[in-house]
Amino acid sequence: MQQVEVAGSYRRRKETVGDLDILVISESASRAVEHFVNYEDVEEISAQGETRSTIILRSGIQVDMRVVARESYGAALLYFTGSKAHNIQRRDMALERGWKVNEYGVFEDQERIAGENEEGIYALFDLPYITPELRENRGEIEAGQAGNLPTLITLEQIRGDLQTHTTASDGRNSLEEMAQAAQERGYDYLAITDHSSHRGVTQGLDAEGLARRIDEIAELDETFPSIHLLAGAEVEVLEDGTLDLPDEVLARLDVCLCAVHTYFDLPRDMQTERIIRALDNPHIHILAHPTGRQINKRRPYDLDMECLIQAAIDRGCYLEINANPERLDLHARHARMAKEMGLKLAISTDAHSVNMLSVMRFGIDQARRGWLTADDVINTRPWREVHTLLKR
Ligand SMILES: [Zn+2]
Repeated sequence: MQQVEVAGSYRRRKETVGDLDILVISESASRAVEHFVNYEDVEEISAQGETRSTIILRSGIQVDMRVVARESYGAALLYFTGSKAHNIQRRDMALERGWKVNEYGVFEDQERIAGENEEGIYALFDLPYITPELRENRGEIEAGQAGNLPTLITLEQIRGDLQTHTTASDGRNSLEEMAQAAQERGYDYLAITDHSSHRGVTQGLDAEGLARRIDEIAELDETFPSIHLLAGAEVEVLEDGTLDLPDEVLARLDVCLCAVHTYFDLPRDMQTERIIRALDNPHIHILAHPTGRQINKRRPYDLDMECLIQAAIDRGCYLEINANPERLDLHARHARMAKEMGLKLAISTDAHSVNMLSVMRFGIDQARRGWLTADDVINTRPWREVHTLLKR
């Protein structure tokens, strides 16, 4: 096989994907198809043709594979990556020029004028390459025409993680293990943000426990010279918007998050007001998982997002993109809204174990679909600069 790419919504890094579409260039289509249907996790072969076949994996996911000709590869990649809305816009632009586009190329009369790669096709329309995460017909073509496409944030630009948990609350690894893992990732800082005690479900820290924890983190920080260990907490927002830890202890934290884990059903006005009241507390830096949703499990609570973003700007605090693939909260649409309104965001893993530090990449995907650049995200900066940004 000479080239393989997973197209479709997977390539656009959508939050969820229905099935997978794989495109292949190969000297021998039959050998590629043979190799594909003999993959060890195949539960069922639904179709097997000369250049195309469909399998169902044991996980239940359907995977289509197409072998395409080299001269059509870019056209096929564009076509099968979508989105449909993006492709329709491109098709209309072709029609205006008297051209035809399909998955084999761009044609003038019968002649293929582009098709081998995506860049060449975009160039035909006087457009720069548009990265798959932006192909949703949400202004990316206009931005490309105007030369205003954002330089999207990348995983390598992340300098630290601002939400993690340890065995002091509901995490699975110790402070030391988390610090070690973050150091191995090359981070400049790691915030330890265990839950406060109000949360009935799991063990959390009360004021005394958190005070002790702050000392422990400071002590351990001495033994990790290459990474800043930050004392933090994820403080519970109570029903009336007050917090469940006293100001004296919150004042000692490097990074203070607040979050809602109860009373999801309040009406929109009350919920918005409640959360803004929590942000009124001058010790709060970041609102964690701002809408509380869990993908395919729990709907976001009803919030006036524009009002919340403005409130965060006015108070000098930030909202989070929670990178956990079950949350991805903020939604990409709201991340873009925040950017456009002038609010920077934090991308945090909410890791409850060392392995979960790696979900940062899903937060990056979410940020990219929200058009964010490195500048829009606070934790692309070294701790020294983040520390300044967090001052209210
Ligand atoms: Zn939480």
